[in-house]
Amino acid sequence: MSNKTAKKMTTVTPWREITPGGAIYEAGNAEGYKTGDWRSMRPVWIEEKCTQCMLCPPTCPDTSIPVKDSKRLDFDYDHCKGCGVCVKICPFKAIDFIKEEDKEEQEV
Ligand code: SF4
Ligand code: SF4
Repeated sequence: MSNKTAKKMTTVTPWREITPGGAIYEAGNAEGYKTGDWRSMRPVWIEEKCTQCMLCPPTCPDTSIPVKDSKRLDFDYDHCKGCGVCVKICPFKAIDFIKEEDKEEQEV
């Protein structure tokens, strides 16, 4: 069991090397998994409306709102699952919430 770690599990890992039930016993392994491709909805930061009130970063269950020098940065889309909690918490409507399939339209 000791060599059956999350870091060693990939899409091609044979079943014999996967932990029972696919359970993960290590802490801090989420960084290694790009879970953002599960997302159907996408938060979009509207920087000009943002007051840097810092309400949103600690509410994100996936730690997908990076903070540097006491300021929030753009979303970590590799890990954001699109739950919408940050959208609800923002008092300044500085986070839009769009369908993932509409992201190209938004970027144009
Ligand atoms: S939508 Fe959810 S997972 Fe994504 S940044 Fe906002 S709170 Fe985090
Ligand atoms: S909650 Fe809204 S205004 Fe506050 S830091 Fe987040 S995006 Fe900016």
